[in-house]
Amino acid sequence: MDISTQTVITDTKLKSMSEEISREASRRRTFAIISHPDAGKTTLTEKLLLYGGALELAGSVTAKKKQRDTASDWMDIEKKRGISISSTVLQFDYGNYRLNLLDTPGHKDFSEDTYRVLMAVDAVIMVIDAGKGIESQTRKLFEICRKRGIPIFTFMNKLDRPSMTPLELIDQLEKVLNLHAFPVVWPLGNGQNFKGVYDRLRKEVHLFERVPAGEYKAPVSIRDIRDHLVKDLLSEQTYNEVVEEIALLDDAHGGFERDAVLHGMTTPVFFGSAANNFGVELLLRGFLEYSAGPSPRKAISGWIPLDNPHFSGFVFKVQTNMNPLHRDRMVFVRVCSGRFYRDMMIHHVRLGKEIRLSGCHSVFGRNREIAWEAYPGDIIGFVTRADFRVGDTISTDPNLVFEEIPRFAPECFAFLHNSLSSSYKSFRKGVEHLLAEDIVQVFHLQDHGSNLPLLGAVGPLQFEVMQYRLKDEYGVESRLESMPWEVLRWLDAPLNDTDLKRSLPHGAALGTDEQGRMVILFPSEWSLKYFSEKNPSTRLLDSPGKT
Ligand code: GDP
Repeated sequence: MDISTQTVITDTKLKSMSEEISREASRRRTFAIISHPDAGKTTLTEKLLLYGGALELAGSVTAKKKQRDTASDWMDIEKKRGISISSTVLQFDYGNYRLNLLDTPGHKDFSEDTYRVLMAVDAVIMVIDAGKGIESQTRKLFEICRKRGIPIFTFMNKLDRPSMTPLELIDQLEKVLNLHAFPVVWPLGNGQNFKGVYDRLRKEVHLFERVPAGEYKAPVSIRDIRDHLVKDLLSEQTYNEVVEEIALLDDAHGGFERDAVLHGMTTPVFFGSAANNFGVELLLRGFLEYSAGPSPRKAISGWIPLDNPHFSGFVFKVQTNMNPLHRDRMVFVRVCSGRFYRDMMIHHVRLGKEIRLSGCHSVFGRNREIAWEAYPGDIIGFVTRADFRVGDTISTDPNLVFEEIPRFAPECFAFLHNSLSSSYKSFRKGVEHLLAEDIVQVFHLQDHGSNLPLLGAVGPLQFEVMQYRLKDEYGVESRLESMPWEVLRWLDAPLNDTDLKRSLPHGAALGTDEQGRMVILFPSEWSLKYFSEKNPSTRLLDSPGKT
């Protein structure tokens, strides 16, 4: 075979690989659900799985819904506290699509964990309790999504209960979040009188029937809005209101622009009731139709196309002891380019090491399956002892490095002490493992008597989880010594220590983060303000590397 024939073969192979990757990537939808606690995120997750065929009966994964046992809630502490802490991945198919649903913790103390998950998704579904409207946590999470410019789909939930009017809810999206809303469906009544929704794009009414405990897919009958059955079901007043509102929307909101959705400028809005499966399938279909597959990711060297011949991905979560029997550590990677296959060799770019990705899995809640291949958008989890941290790049290209995932500025600080000197070894091991998960941040104080690391968290529950896990997974009791600082800022550039120390307000302290970047800890916002006014030329950052 001469060289030119070889080149043609290689080119043909590359082309077909690139086509395969692009084809596979385009049918991926990698997303998360964000909401204020109790708005219905867990319920909606379960119902999406039901419609995706991943569950036969909603609530059947672990039988009793009242224990809050769903496929994505698995840690003991989550059950105890009734909150979702760990981010797990649920992969399922719907039609030709492959969906990767990343679970996000709802509690505000875990906003940093949620933030990292949001770095790994291409779209979000924002669930709002229609009785309460936009709540604080929704707002915070929404802001993160907006910064990333990712498409946001809105699901107004719990329409089976007395709700705010749909116009009020739309108005809130526009006024409170400053987000243009396009209602794709419009509810017919609410509370006891919630009868279905009108699909504005297809111009058809979907009438729903209640099903026992929302276990099965809800049967749907599709009608024209002028159908006498629709009129008979609704009171005359509700019917007239709905018809009027729909006409008003058509006038005021213009046409549907998918491009604006893809740029995060417009949110398509759906109404329903996750508990009763009302509107869930319309949401799912609308989401698939109007969202897009993964887009290229930015590395330090530039944008990396999906069909790059090199496989690449980044770590967005590290979880130790997913299986307490094996004391293992699972590293979750979002695939960004190329094709992953089992046992492939990759570069751990930060360490400059080559590693074989053997114990690779696709993960479904608690369950794992061997992952044979994965494409951009997919999440793979692999079990390893190697040192992986959130933000690390893995790639077959040793020079590819994705941009760092920014950290949140912690607001609570503490030292963690071992309660029993006999358990020192287990304590050290436990702390080391849990810190490798980045569940809290680590700092070192200057001019402090002990060389104990100072732990920083966005909310105190993070410390509680750390202590709980030390006890549960390593059998050690610990004691938390809370420290009085409330605000931390990174310094833009290293300053002369002596000058800096002199200008620190009372109670403030200097330290460094794990990468040796200098930080200042302030006892209050007021103290930070005072310092900033006195030192206008000192630039302080609320996230390292972010100006
Ligand atoms: P999360 O904290 O956002 O995950 O919320 P959950 O999914 O756990 O729901 C919180 C509560 O609201 C639970 O008691 C659910 O049964 C209930 N819930 C969820 N969706 C609906 C709905 O559509 N209608 C009604 N009435 N209750 C709902």
